Amino acid sequence: MKEIVEVAVGLPVPKTFHYSIPEKMRESLKVGMRVLVPFKGRKVTGFTLDLMDLPPEGVKEKLKEVEEVLDEIPLIDPQMLRLYRWVSDYYLYPLGEVIKTGLPPGLHLKSEWILDLTPDGLRRLEQGDVDPVQERVFREAERCGKISLKKILKAYPGEVSKSQVFLWRRKGLLSLEPGFEGREVKPKFEKVIRPTGSEPAQPVSKKEREILKWLEEKGEALYSELTKRFNAPSKAIQSLQSGGFVSVSHREVCRELSVRPELKPYPKPVLSADQEKVFHEIVKGIHSKQFSPFLIHGVTGSGKTEIYLRAIEEVLAEGKEAIVLVPEISLTPQLFSRFEDRFGEALGLLHSGLGRGERYDQWRKVWKGEVKIVLGARSAIFAPFKNVGMIIVDEEHEPSYKQEEKLKYHARDLAVLRAKHCDATLLLGSATPSLESFHNAETGKLRLLSLPERIEGKPLPRVEVVDMKGKEGILSEELKGAMGRTLEEKRQGLLFLNRRGFAHFIFCPDCGLTFKCPNCSVTLTYHLWDRSLQCHYCDYRIQAPGDCPQCEGHRLRPIGTGTERLEEEIRTLFPEIRVGRMDRDTTKRKHSHQQILKGLETGEIDLLIGTQMIVKGHDFPNVTFVGVISADASLHFPDFRSSERTFQLLTQVAGRAGRGTVPGEVVIQTYCPEHYSIQRAKEHDFIGFYQEEAQFRRALEYPPFARMINFRLTGNSEKRTETAATEMGRIGQALLKKGYRKGIEILGPSAAPFSKMRGKFRWQMLAKGKSSRMLHQFARGVAERLERETGSTGVNLDIDVDPIFVL
Ligand SMILES: [Zn+2]
Ligand SMILES: [Zn+2]
Repeated sequence: MKEIVEVAVGLPVPKTFHYSIPEKMRESLKVGMRVLVPFKGRKVTGFTLDLMDLPPEGVKEKLKEVEEVLDEIPLIDPQMLRLYRWVSDYYLYPLGEVIKTGLPPGLHLKSEWILDLTPDGLRRLEQGDVDPVQERVFREAERCGKISLKKILKAYPGEVSKSQVFLWRRKGLLSLEPGFEGREVKPKFEKVIRPTGSEPAQPVSKKEREILKWLEEKGEALYSELTKRFNAPSKAIQSLQSGGFVSVSHREVCRELSVRPELKPYPKPVLSADQEKVFHEIVKGIHSKQFSPFLIHGVTGSGKTEIYLRAIEEVLAEGKEAIVLVPEISLTPQLFSRFEDRFGEALGLLHSGLGRGERYDQWRKVWKGEVKIVLGARSAIFAPFKNVGMIIVDEEHEPSYKQEEKLKYHARDLAVLRAKHCDATLLLGSATPSLESFHNAETGKLRLLSLPERIEGKPLPRVEVVDMKGKEGILSEELKGAMGRTLEEKRQGLLFLNRRGFAHFIFCPDCGLTFKCPNCSVTLTYHLWDRSLQCHYCDYRIQAPGDCPQCEGHRLRPIGTGTERLEEEIRTLFPEIRVGRMDRDTTKRKHSHQQILKGLETGEIDLLIGTQMIVKGHDFPNVTFVGVISADASLHFPDFRSSERTFQLLTQVAGRAGRGTVPGEVVIQTYCPEHYSIQRAKEHDFIGFYQEEAQFRRALEYPPFARMINFRLTGNSEKRTETAATEMGRIGQALLKKGYRKGIEILGPSAAPFSKMRGKFRWQMLAKGKSSRMLHQFARGVAERLERETGSTGVNLDIDVDPIFVL
C-alpha cells in the first residue's frame, strides 16, 4: 500500500505538495479523492493526484500527515486529472485552482479564521469602552455569533486590517480559531412512504384509510406528492407509521430546475441534400472511434442544430456521452427547448445561471452518469463524464468561450484537447468561423464541412450599407424607409446598437467638462430613466447634475446614442408601433429575456431594440428587417481582433432577418462604408473576409500565424505598477539576450488600452513567437524573475495565453 500522496491544494500556489498517509487511511485513499491537509497553519482541501511508496527526490523526509479523506469515491476521473494537468501547464495557472474551476462551487470546503468575542471584549462593548471602528466590528460579531475574518474585512474595506484584528486578539478582546465557513451544498433528501402490507389490527381514521389505500395503489410515494394530494398528512402518516402500516425512509432527490422553458414539440425535419452529406461524414467519424475533428461552416439558417441533434443520437446509440457548448445559454431558450424535446431526461444542463443547489445536482447527475448529454456554457467543458463520444462547440467564434478572469482558458481549445484525449468526435460550428479555426481547416487539422445555403432554399437577406458621413440624426432615411415598410406589412424588425444607456457621456459646451469614472479610464454613460451617470465596467454611479459643476453653465448636453435614447427616438418617430428593448438594463430580473423574446414570438412586439444580446441564434420567422445603427464601435476597439469581431457581429445580426418565408432586408449604418469587414458582411462572403484578414495577420505576425502571450500587470499604486512594468521590460529584454531573440518578439511594456480599470492601474507587455514551447518557457522565466524582484510590491502579474489550438 502506498504511503505518500501528491496533493494539489485549492490555493494560488504554483506547485503541488506531498503528504504522508496515516496507516488507517491507506486502504481508502484513491487518486481523484479530496483530502483535508494542513497547509501553513490552516487546514485546506486538496486533490489527490498520485500515490507513491517514497517521496520524490528533493522532498524532505519529514512530511505532514493527511488529516482526513473527504470522499468515499474518487470525485475526479484520471482522464480529467490529465486534462487539468495540461490546463495548468498551458495557461500557467496553479493546478489546485484549475481543478476548483471544474467543480461546482458548492463542493469547495476550506478552513478559515472564525472570529468570536471574548467575555472581556463583550464587556468592553457593553460599557462603550471601544473606539468607533471596534464598536462596528464588535457589534457585527455579536450580532452574528461567529463570523469569518474574511467577511469582516470585506464588510469594512479600508477601515479594518487583518493586523488590527490580530492585535485585538492579543489584547484578549476576541478569539480567532480555524473553522469552516460556508457549508457544502448538501444533497437534498426527501421522505419516501411505503405501505408495509400488514392488515390494520386497530381501527384507523377515515383519512388514514384513504392515504393507505392511495399508497397501496401507487406502491410508494414521496412526501411532497402526498402533500399535494392530501391536506396536512403528517399526523396521519405518523400514526400509520407507529401502527406499522407504512414505512418511512429517505431518498436523495434532485432539485427541480427553475429555468425550464416552455416545452414545444419540434417535429424532426427531413434533412436537405447538403445536411445529409455533412451528417454522413460525421457519422463516419463517430464510427471510426478515433479523434475526428470537424469544422461545420454553415451560413445562418442552414440547419446546423438538426445536425447536432442527429449526431448526438448516433453517439448515444454507441453507448457514449456528449457535451454541447453554447455561448450564453440563458439567451437561447429556443435551443434548450429543442434539445429537451429530443432528449428529455437524458439531458443535463450546466451553466452559471443555475442556482448553487441546481448546479450541484446537475453536476452530480453527470458524474453518476444519470444524464448522457450536457448542454452548457463554457464551464460545461469540465463536465465529469467518463466516456465522452462527442463534443460540440456551437458558434465556436464567440468570444464568451474565453474566460477573462482568473483561469483564462478558452473552452473551444479545451474541447479540442478533451476530444483528442477521449478519441471523440469534435464538431465546431459557425456561420463566421474564427480565423484560428478556419486556418486549421485550411491546413487540414480540422475537416471542413460546408452548408452554403439556407434550408428550404430561403435566400440570404439583402444588405444595404449607408454612409453616415455628413448626415444628421441617428437614423438615416434608408433605414427609416425600410423599417417603415416592414412594419406596415405587419412584419417585425430588430435594431442593433451595441451600447446601452441613453448617451455615451454628457458634455459641457461652455467649459468642456466631461464626467470620468474615478476607478476606470472611461467616461460615464448617461442613463435618462434614473438620471444617473454610470460606469459600465465597475458599476460606479452618481446622480447626473442639472448644471455644470465646474462653470455652472446650463447647457450640459448628452453626446452619442445608446439603446435607451434609440428607443425614445423610435417612439417619437413611430408612435404607433410597439417597441421592446433588450439590454443589460432591461434584463436584470430573472426570466426577463425569455419574456422579451416571447413578446417577439407572439407578435406583441413589432420592433426589438437591443445590444449584442439580440445577435444570438434566435429564430423568429416573422422578423424580416434588421437595422444596424452603427457598425463602427466594435471596429475601432483597440484589439487586433476588432475587424474579425465586427464582421462576425454584422453577419450574425443580419442572419436574424428573413428566416421565414419572406426574404430579409438589412440596413447597416457606418462612417467606414469601404471597410472590408463591412463590405464582406454585406456580400455574405466569409471566405473573402478570411483571405483579406489573414493577409494582415500574416504580415503583422498575429494569431493564428503566431502565438502570443500577454503579460498584464495590475496594481493599486500608479507609480509601483509602472516601476514593475519597467522591470518586466528589462527582464524580458535580458531573456531575449539569453537566447530567445531568435524566436520571440516583445511589444511594450506600455500602459494597457484602458489604463485604469476598477481602481487598478494596468500595464502590459506582449510576447509573440512561432513556437508555443519556447513562448511558454519564456513566460515562466519572466514570471519567476519578476516575482523574485518585485514580489511584495502589491503589483499582480496575470498571464493571458492567446487562444489558439493545440492540435
Ligand atoms: Zn461647464
Ligand atoms: Zn468604472
